[in-house]
Amino acid sequence: MLKNLCIISILLFISMNSYSKDSCDYQCEIDQFINNCKYSNLDSDLIGVPDRLRFALESLLYSPLGANIIITSSELGEYFEFTQVAHLDDAFTAEENQIYYHLDVSGWYVHIQIDWELPLGSNLEFSSLASLIAHEIGHTALGRASFNLPEIESFVEARLETGGVTYIYSRERIQQEEFRAVRLFENIYRSYANVPLRYAYYKDFDIINP
Ligand SMILES: [Zn+2]
Repeated sequence: MLKNLCIISILLFISMNSYSKDSCDYQCEIDQFINNCKYSNLDSDLIGVPDRLRFALESLLYSPLGANIIITSSELGEYFEFTQVAHLDDAFTAEENQIYYHLDVSGWYVHIQIDWELPLGSNLEFSSLASLIAHEIGHTALGRASFNLPEIESFVEARLETGGVTYIYSRERIQQEEFRAVRLFENIYRSYANVPLRYAYYKDFDIINP
């Protein structure tokens, strides 16, 4: 009996040991995901991941957004490409799985107010690199796939007087897209990071009262 117990505990020890060697804990999955993303800037080819961006991504992937993104990314084999832009004007936009960013978030906050009187409740003074990237993930293909969200087509069909058909930009659809990025991505991260939520995008408090 004692001999059997010894054998069982030895086997258990061996299997637990091999498990810990082969398994990847959540931090290890985050590292793998970050390493599989691409990093570039507009002037040169590949660069490494800047430390500040790595910290922002780690925080974001530990938030309630993270697990879905990591699982979906490995299912689809899709990753983000982060492009560091030189000018603040070009920062914090996204297309497909590419996200354009700038490391100077406080400079960005000053810069956006040159042309834009921020609506009440935007709370953009509480933005961080991670909250801004969380928002942009809401505009990416991988972000949508991670939460089973449909693509919102920003062009709608319009009939011409001649009877033909053309496509025009729909303000309503663009607004839907922005509100979704705030509600389902940016504010989920803000809530996790314990900073005030974003309540406005275009007009005072339009996120909660469209
Ligand atoms: Zn947006």
